[in-house]
Amino acid sequence: MAKKKKSKKKEESELEKKLSFTPKSIWEGINKKDIKKCYSFSRGYKEFLSKCKTEAQSVAYAEKLARNEGFREVSQIKNISPGDRVYIKNRHKNIMLFRVGKKPLAEGLNLIAAHVDAPRLDLKPSPLAEDADSQIALFKTHYYGGIKKYQWVNVPMALHGKVVRMDGKQIEIDIGEKKDDPVIVIPDLLPHLAAKQNRRTLREGIKGEELRVIVGSRPLDDENAKYKIKLTVLKELNDRYGMTEEDFVSAELEVVPAGPARDVGLDRSLVGAYGQDDRICAYTSVMAILEMGKKIPERTAACILFDREEVGSDGPTGVKSRFLLNAVGEVMEKLDGGYRDIELRRSLERSYALSADVNGAINPMFKDVHEKQNAAVLGKGIVVTKYTGSGGKYNSSEASAEFVAKVRRILNDAKIPWQPAELGKIDEGGGGTVAKFLALHNMDVLDAGPALVSMHSPFELSSKADIYYTYKAYKEFFLKME
Ligand code: MN
Ligand code: MN
Repeated sequence: MAKKKKSKKKEESELEKKLSFTPKSIWEGINKKDIKKCYSFSRGYKEFLSKCKTEAQSVAYAEKLARNEGFREVSQIKNISPGDRVYIKNRHKNIMLFRVGKKPLAEGLNLIAAHVDAPRLDLKPSPLAEDADSQIALFKTHYYGGIKKYQWVNVPMALHGKVVRMDGKQIEIDIGEKKDDPVIVIPDLLPHLAAKQNRRTLREGIKGEELRVIVGSRPLDDENAKYKIKLTVLKELNDRYGMTEEDFVSAELEVVPAGPARDVGLDRSLVGAYGQDDRICAYTSVMAILEMGKKIPERTAACILFDREEVGSDGPTGVKSRFLLNAVGEVMEKLDGGYRDIELRRSLERSYALSADVNGAINPMFKDVHEKQNAAVLGKGIVVTKYTGSGGKYNSSEASAEFVAKVRRILNDAKIPWQPAELGKIDEGGGGTVAKFLALHNMDVLDAGPALVSMHSPFELSSKADIYYTYKAYKEFFLKME
């Protein structure tokens, strides 16, 4: 007869269980069905990431998904009624989706705001140069957003964006993603001759002006030309797109890491890709509003995608512009018997907003930058960040205890795993989101989104469990916040 086995599991203290709070990994104790849901949800997400390398592509993709679910452009319709699905775009770089609720707009929105711009290398206004010594043609770039410059060399890159010719014709450029497309690349120095470079600080290891991308090396057979290699590139661009060198001035061209999103880890539990900050929140919040179900919600739900977050949110497509205000006004005009300025202000004032953005997860090689009890961990669910900023909470809006309590109750009621966190140790650095700009409308705002490892790098990492449960969290917020 076998010996009666003593339960191996260490007995938990009932009192401790009741009183203490320690977020656990979602993967612990998850059933097979839910693992499958996490993995299958990430497939749609990876497709989105692979196809959307710029803010304009992300907005167009969101619009397509929305139209498939019956969303209509506000300018195309006369009247809006509760239950309607409508959207407004701004300059191809913002989109705001509305699922109209039963209550008047003046009672406020359940708003989720994410951003679709990501750190990258923009082409300079006059980018093309030929280096005679190396016999190489290059694009000069100007980096956008906070990058560690040394990470962007020797990485196969793609070129995305548009050129607007003088006649107004728009040319879409998209080179480097297809299997047989060429890529472009910034060449780092060989280690054999890097004695001097190795003495530079990591920050200066690659300098801004050294972020130059190789685009050609073959001279054109044109005796009288001064810059023959450059001319080969210009001719290629002219043959393909009918553009000349001056057209670069009226272009928006972004150099980004080439290739699709990938599964990471032998267990495939992570997603690796460029641009997950903050397209992870864009995708999950858009999917959440699309899949709110047939029942007309009480409060109007809205999801908005911003641009320019990575550079301070200035400009007509950043959160500091009037787009949000105007878009809500446009919907109000066709609903609730018309538009009134005070009602619009009330609508924003009485809104609850999630600033849907990422936090930095503990990186096993650099744990010291975090205060572990208040740090985000991959796989522990959506991160609730009460405030961002730096130092003594500078440059940050802070969510009120009342609002955090409401969000916490919604998540707990739906059994959605979540974790509270700061960005890092107090004196270690800092960062911000769109939260403080949304708060200018006097609305309650809370930062909430998944955590990433290697944020702002050419290959950021996220957890499939966090992606799926962030989507679920956003859906609950849209439906239940009141
Ligand atoms: Mn972000
Ligand atoms: Mn960022």
